[in-house]
Order: sequence, then structure tokens, then C-alpha cells
Amino acid sequence: MCGKESELQKSHIFPRSYFRKLKAGNGQLLKVVIDDDSQPEKSNLDPKEPLFCRACEQFLSEKYEQYGTRILTNRKFATVKKDYVEFRSFRYKDFYLYLISIIWRASISSLDTFKHISFPEKHNNFLKQCLLEGKIKINTTLKLDHFIKISVIRIIDSKNEIDDIVIRKTMMNLNFEKGSTSDVGMIYYFMADGFLVAYHFTGEEDIHKLRVEKNRAQLRNLPNIKIPRVDFRQLSQIRSAFSSVTNKISEYRA
Ligand SMILES: [Zn+2]
Repeated sequence: MCGKESELQKSHIFPRSYFRKLKAGNGQLLKVVIDDDSQPEKSNLDPKEPLFCRACEQFLSEKYEQYGTRILTNRKFATVKKDYVEFRSFRYKDFYLYLISIIWRASISSLDTFKHISFPEKHNNFLKQCLLEGKIKINTTLKLDHFIKISVIRIIDSKNEIDDIVIRKTMMNLNFEKGSTSDVGMIYYFMADGFLVAYHFTGEEDIHKLRVEKNRAQLRNLPNIKIPRVDFRQLSQIRSAFSSVTNKISEYRA
């Protein structure tokens, strides 16, 4: 990341703390791949690869990860209401760039787990530069968040059929789907700690529209921000992922 010659560490794509929390005393996780023939398997599931030097690891951790992972899990920052979770003293730019750092790492990763996430080199370099400089401004009128709009939703089960702890302990790897039309672009998403994070890479070319159009649950630069709590049945990808996982696990146990 810094461009200096240095020994590379075993780096994570998703912060280590996610896996630490998922495992919490239990060394292994159950990995389920949603396809036709693979079996659920117990796995260490903590993918690492030589990617950053110690100084860059430190930089990413202190500048982005510490805040990014803390805000979603520390009750001190949040008030939970029926329809939303409110985060106070929200540091938009830091949180936004933290989420960018995850998808950027996935894109430059050579791990199998992330082989479906790969942006052109010029985009990777641009994201890296934004992270290094801690900025989202591109020029006087355009910002990174006009092109990559990030939405965050807290996934719940309003019928209480799935325990909230199961929802929080389900991690869904980065995935993507194409928007229905070209101006919609691409949507990448993952789920961790009970939150669904969706990156909307817009294909819109109209600059005015880019600047004013907001997506559902899009993060905004506000001191207090409301993250909607949404029943997983309302989100087709999450609903079908949960049902596929449930089916796979019951076959596996049978
Ligand atoms: Zn470095």
C-alpha cells in the first residue's frame, strides 16, 4: 500500500476482530457454500495472505478498523428502536472509508474466497489513494460517495424464528449482482455482525443525478444516523441465503 519495500505480514481482508468474535472460544466455524454439491464443512475460515507491511497494517487498523468495527458492536454509540438503530457522534467519512477499505482489499486479494471481486487496476489505485489520504473528495463538485453509494441495514427476524445471536453470528461473504439496467450499475454486499452492507457502484452518467440521488438506507454525513432494522424476509438475497444455509445444514446433519 505504501509502495515501500518491506516484509509483508499475513493480512486479513475482513478485519481479524470479526472472526475473533464469530469464534468466541470455539476455534472453528461452519462454512457453507451455496451451490449444488458442496457439503458444509468445519473450517478455520480466517483467510489471510501477504498483502501489507507492518506499518500499513497499523495504519489501516488505527485509521479505519478500530472505529469501523467498534461502532457496529458497541452499545455505547447506539440506541435501538423498533424500526432503526441510531448511532450518535457518527464519523461518516471514517466509517465510509473503513467499508471502502474492505472491498478494496477484497479486490486486490489473490485469495480464492475473493476471486469474484476484482476491479480494474486504475480503480484499485484510486481507492488506495483515497484511503491513504483519508479523503472522499475527488474535485470541487464530485466525491467518491457519488459513485459508490453505501447502504447499511440491520437484519432482524421480526417473528423471532431465528435467534438474533444466530443472525449476528452469520457472516456472508462479499458477493455481487448486476443492476437491472446499465445506469443502476453493480451492487456488492456482505453481512457481518447482523448488518448488511451494500455497495452500489452506480452506472449513472448524469452528474446532477449522481449527486442528488440517494438509495435506501444510504449512509449520510450526519452526526446522528439511523440505520433501518429490516426483517430478512423483505430482502430476497438474505431470505434465500438463510433458507439455503438451513437446508444444507439439515442435509449435513441427517
Ligand atoms: Zn506498507
